[in-house]
Amino acid sequence: MSQQFDVVVIGGGPGGYVAAIRAAQLGFSTACIDATKDAVGKQSLGGTCLNVGCIPSKALLQSSENYHNAVHGFADHGINVGTVKVDIAKMLARKQDIINKNTGGIAYLFKKNKVTSFLGYGSFKARNGDKWQIEVKDGDKVEVIEATHVIIATGSKVRQLPGVAIDNQLVLDNEGALAIPAVPKKLGVIGAGVIGLEMGSVWKRLGADVTVLEAMPTFLGAADEQVAKDAFKYLTKETGLAITNGVKIGEIKVGKKDVTVNWTDAAGAEQKSVFDKLIVSIGRVPNTDGLNADAVGLKINERGQVEVDDDCRTALPNVWAIGDVIRGPMLAHKASEEGVAVAERIAGQHPHVDYNVIPWVIYTSPEIAWVGKTEQQLKAEGIDYKKGQFLFSANGRALALGEAKGFVKMLADAKTDRILGVHIVGPFASELISEAVVAMEFNASSEDIARIVHAHPSLSEALHEAALGCDKRSLHS
Ligand SMILES: Cc1cc2nc3c(=O)[nH]c(=O)nc-3n(C[C@H](O)[C@H](O)[C@H](O)COP(=O)(O)OP(=O)(O)OC[C@H]3O[C@@H](n4cnc5c(N)ncnc54)[C@H](O)[C@@H]3O)c2cc1C
Repeated sequence: MSQQFDVVVIGGGPGGYVAAIRAAQLGFSTACIDATKDAVGKQSLGGTCLNVGCIPSKALLQSSENYHNAVHGFADHGINVGTVKVDIAKMLARKQDIINKNTGGIAYLFKKNKVTSFLGYGSFKARNGDKWQIEVKDGDKVEVIEATHVIIATGSKVRQLPGVAIDNQLVLDNEGALAIPAVPKKLGVIGAGVIGLEMGSVWKRLGADVTVLEAMPTFLGAADEQVAKDAFKYLTKETGLAITNGVKIGEIKVGKKDVTVNWTDAAGAEQKSVFDKLIVSIGRVPNTDGLNADAVGLKINERGQVEVDDDCRTALPNVWAIGDVIRGPMLAHKASEEGVAVAERIAGQHPHVDYNVIPWVIYTSPEIAWVGKTEQQLKAEGIDYKKGQFLFSANGRALALGEAKGFVKMLADAKTDRILGVHIVGPFASELISEAVVAMEFNASSEDIARIVHAHPSLSEALHEAALGCDKRSLHS
């Protein structure tokens, strides 16, 4: 007889592994199936996020920033380090070590919580009474397990540029971009989204000449316009990325040692760029490959997403889906929260995920982070708002860090004073945004933040000052 589980999760990324742990905590017999293997064929849990996404990119961003600071920043502090050399092999090995620690940590958590882990591809086989039969396939090894509830957490994969195959030698996706063995002289990046900007920053800081080509006419269209404008200035002038918006990519020719990209600029002039390596980062698409969705009537919508309701339920009985494979932002923390919520719904609880208060972060230098509505959204929706803004150049801690770029902007309802959005470009924006998330989740007003004691000297004082600014009473500007 097949092994039986209350809950089987397909996919072990931040959506799936968190769902599995929470389901096990709630007393369900739980299994998680994941196909990702490391270089020696061992299971490597954690999905895109831990293996080829959030964590390795942040490891390389930190290493490259350290290098950049040693070359360009330490002298300001009176520290002369002489000739600084970069050892890419060691940098990549450190990154791999961080990945291993994280993925190993998930394996440990599975053991601790008694989650049964299966290595291989999971797919729907059939409905057997009130159970789902799930096939697990790893090479020639095939087994069938049964589950009362199935959570699909198969994540996303790279959106391919038509006509250009990714070989991860010359034309790279995120996986290749995180493993370039030597700093390329000329690096092309197609797509100025989060991944393109982060990967472009890494290799630029390490010495590559980086050109970023973006089809959209405006830079970071989803961000607050003022933040996007400031970030563009820093990323082009200080980081040194050559970013061009409004381009139309034409023919791409992959040679033996380089890649030629023909493109048309916003004015219609034809351009040609030759790169040693080309990163394609034009977004990601949901991954439903191999789930055998048709066999059981699992609905995939026109965007390739598993169709779910507001509670992540599919139309099939006891089949749920979470994370990148469904609607909503492709963010690890969104996937994890959906995982927790689904496990709790299976247990009959009534959790909720507040999609209006999900933080966004771009880990460039300076970092960019926001939560809630942008000014342009508030204007479009006809919402009357007030704003408070504070520059990091007037913040003592930022000056001491040597990171006094950017600002915090708080937007609050003109009548009720409720905070509607917070936008940050500046040092540790990724950490600072949490205060805004908590405040918004508790329906705080700008005055609530203005009346909270913030430690001095700290970057959080900039948020405090922005809150004071909503009432035109900033103390330090
Ligand atoms: C370079 C890069 C940087 C990123 N940085 C950030 C960041 O800083 N912050 C952030 O929030 N997000 C970031 N993201 C996005 C983040 O990685 C995703 O939103 C997140 O991983 C989605 O989680 P998930 O669990 O839905 O899917 P995934 O993490 O994609 O995991 C899905 C897992 O399911 C497995 N799988 C797929 N099909 C099957 C099957 N049939 N059977 C078994 N296993 C299967 C896959 O192999 C994978 O292991 C980044 C992404 C990239 C590419």
